[in-house]
Amino acid sequence: MIKEFDQLLCIGCGVCETVCPADVIRISTTTGKAIAAYKGDCWTCYNCELDCPVGAIKVAPFRRHRPPMSFSLDESLSMRVSQ
Ligand code: SF4
Ligand code: SF4
Repeated sequence: MIKEFDQLLCIGCGVCETVCPADVIRISTTTGKAIAAYKGDCWTCYNCELDCPVGAIKVAPFRRHRPPMSFSLDESLSMRVSQ
């Protein structure tokens, strides 16, 4: 469930509104910042938290981190072939 937007960090870019598959988020016409307009519809998919460019969104039950991308595409493909 989406928990909070840090209003000090939010720059009102609208990325979270765009990537939300459940249409939960709106950009406030009064503050220009993101709000959870339909919080109860949240799927807890973490898209908004992962894509916010300034880390202003917290989704519970925990903060999800992007998986490390330290290996190369060639290594990744060879791992798949060997499985
Ligand atoms: S966690 Fe997913 S469903 Fe919930 S507000 Fe963020 S993008 Fe929308
Ligand atoms: S993606 Fe982050 S900075 Fe952009 S509007 Fe949403 S909360 Fe604000």
